[in-house]
Amino acid sequence: MLELSSNLSPLVASLNPAQREAVTAPPEHRLVLAGAGSGKTRVLTHRVAWLIAAEGVSPMSILAVTFTNKAAAEMRARIEQLVDVPIRAMWVGTFHGVAHRMLRMHWKEAGLPQNFQILDADDQVRLVKRIIKNLELPDDQWPAKTVAGWISAQKEEARRPQHFADEGDYTQRQFVRIYSAYQAQCDRQGVVDFAELLLRAYELTRDHADIQAHYRRRFRHILVDEFQDTNKLQYDWLRVIAGRDGVLFAVGDDDQSIYSWRGARVDNMLRLAQDFRGLEVVRLEQNYRSTGNILAAANGLIAKNAGRLGKELWTDGSDGEPIQLYAAFNEYDEADFVVARIKEHLDGRCALSEIAVLYRMGAQSRVLEEALIRARLPYRIYGGLRFFERQEIKDALAYLRLLHNRHDDTSFERAVNTPPRGIGATSVEKLRQLARDKDVSLWTAATQGAGPLGRSAAALQQFTGLIESLASETKAVALSRATERVIERSGLREHYRKEKGEQAEARLENLDELISATRSFEPRVTNEPPDENESPRADPLTEFLTHAALEAGEAQAGPGEDCVQLMTLHAAKGLEFPVVFMVGMENGLFPHARSAGEGNLEEERRLCYVGITRARKQLYMSYAEMRRMHGVEQNNAPSMFLREIPPEVIVETRPRASLTRPAFAPRSAYGREHSAGFSGGGWDRGDVNERRGAYGARHEPPLTRQPVSPSMMGKSEGPAGLRLGQSVRHEKFGEGTVLAFDGDGERTRIEVRFKNAGTKWLMLSFARLEAL
Ligand code: ATP
Ligand code: MG
Repeated sequence: MLELSSNLSPLVASLNPAQREAVTAPPEHRLVLAGAGSGKTRVLTHRVAWLIAAEGVSPMSILAVTFTNKAAAEMRARIEQLVDVPIRAMWVGTFHGVAHRMLRMHWKEAGLPQNFQILDADDQVRLVKRIIKNLELPDDQWPAKTVAGWISAQKEEARRPQHFADEGDYTQRQFVRIYSAYQAQCDRQGVVDFAELLLRAYELTRDHADIQAHYRRRFRHILVDEFQDTNKLQYDWLRVIAGRDGVLFAVGDDDQSIYSWRGARVDNMLRLAQDFRGLEVVRLEQNYRSTGNILAAANGLIAKNAGRLGKELWTDGSDGEPIQLYAAFNEYDEADFVVARIKEHLDGRCALSEIAVLYRMGAQSRVLEEALIRARLPYRIYGGLRFFERQEIKDALAYLRLLHNRHDDTSFERAVNTPPRGIGATSVEKLRQLARDKDVSLWTAATQGAGPLGRSAAALQQFTGLIESLASETKAVALSRATERVIERSGLREHYRKEKGEQAEARLENLDELISATRSFEPRVTNEPPDENESPRADPLTEFLTHAALEAGEAQAGPGEDCVQLMTLHAAKGLEFPVVFMVGMENGLFPHARSAGEGNLEEERRLCYVGITRARKQLYMSYAEMRRMHGVEQNNAPSMFLREIPPEVIVETRPRASLTRPAFAPRSAYGREHSAGFSGGGWDRGDVNERRGAYGARHEPPLTRQPVSPSMMGKSEGPAGLRLGQSVRHEKFGEGTVLAFDGDGERTRIEVRFKNAGTKWLMLSFARLEAL
């Protein structure tokens, strides 16, 4: 055992014995299998620091991988704090980021053009759609999104089109045909989709002996966070890089495996013992992150899953605040609730960045964003709907990409008629045909013989002329200046200015934001000596376009600005915040209807477990009784997961003031300070509006909390002679079973699962239920 020098001791002093054992272990394979908040990531970063500071390992020989950009950035920052040598040469990143870096360095061997670009998920689907059309397959039978998903899944299994044996199955044959044509097109355009990044990097290190030897020599220590979410390809890649001598240090939690839909395999944890000889497993069970109540909620919930590797978290900290549950009228009310509580927390108690709002689907962010903007609270979105995926941004990027690479057909298609310049769908189709016949890019087809295009030919010529002149104009200017010029000269700014309205204004702002975003990619003068182990820097435009494709939502709050953190539950993995909101706790949304239907209920539950365990001190959960989803009003029952949380750690929280809202009025139509009165309308109809009414009359003092009425969590005897489990009939909804009661007297509500109308909360006094 090494002697600890005085500056090393703090490194391990802040670890418990099990953690310390893992951090200071001799260089052998290790798997730390432990629950949320037990210090896995902390152990991993300390391990890196230990290797450098105590074992004298060069940062260069360390590869540390995790799953999100945010987590990677945090990991680097944490390690930097722990050691006092520069760690720039250390590779820390996401799997995709590391793969991308390798491909940039070895583009030739990887069979890519030097300026290859990344095709994001949206463009991938468009391209697949076009291929399906080219192959004359009926697009109703071949939905592009499904096929694109299938292609990615094949890549994640390292399967190329030529690996399929033709067994005479018609459907498979078509899938493979599309895959093959799609890949050929990607290669022609010089673009790489997300799964391709990984597959290429894997093939690169597997098939090129010299490259393989180089990385095996280089990366003696490979550390992987969130190991439970590795897929087959990532696993195989790690094995290739590790070779015989590389030492693997993996940390993970089977209860947090949330990417099986993308091919992640918890089994990889079990495989480790076979593939990495001498693997030691370390378990950690003490949680340092969350209060006792939050942990009790997490433990209670995850206990409902079968087939776990099994572990229970404990803390020696206090119970803390109970979890607060809010029942909102609709998504707007929910967003207002979130904003009101955020404001409370700001009274000197915490910074905005210490607050996270988590949701199941990216689309849920819009309403939250609006409420935050109204309240002038800066926020930032990680993952989900990205800045770089917005229409106007993609328009501008298409031009930039074309300047970069004329043969990028996807960008050509987008730019050619945005803004409209009289090149109609038929002309574009003809151009495609021409390109196909000659087996060239759209650009080449357009510049070398657009004769058959008739009237559009002139417009097309103007377009290619525009691109060429933009290219020469912007060659010698700074990237931000070039971007600005592209937005002007392409006519995009004018196009969106003419659109008018709030939406158009937002778009113009986004375009401005894009210009600012490019600024950080302009070369800076630094005093730092160049690092020979750094990958060669690409030109600013290449770097920027890569960033745009890889990085999620960078646009909302300025860099470094204190702001509320918004993200999907998936994106929150590995992170922690003192205050967490989990919104949209409704059946159908969470657990998501599709996932639950596909038998992935356990994965949804793990996702819920991930969400709960992000919270350190205070957790809020909310559901909306009515929510507009996919353009349709839906009435979903509260999430089944709420019921799986031990009732003693939850309290139901009420809104600030008593108020009533007209049932379907837009948000601006009702004031917050409006006071009580049953003006909600429609109370007597025994349908949706009753439920509004039930929540419409709230006379509680501001922000008081009430324990969830025990009835809600399972009182068996209800009023009016009804009991839980009893069969009842409703005039409109038909037969159903009583699930729960809530409230007292006149305001008693009842939850019924109807055979044909789903589960609903009704006002008992208006529902006129008939006991069967
Ligand atoms: P997750 O499963 O969510 O990724 P994790 O196991 O990686 O969680 P960490 O993020 O490493 O957990 O640690 C959770 C929190 O507990 C962090 O704030 C960390 O600094 C703290 N922590 C971990 N171990 C200790 C310890 N021995 N003493 C004090 N704080 C600790
Ligand atoms: Mg972690």
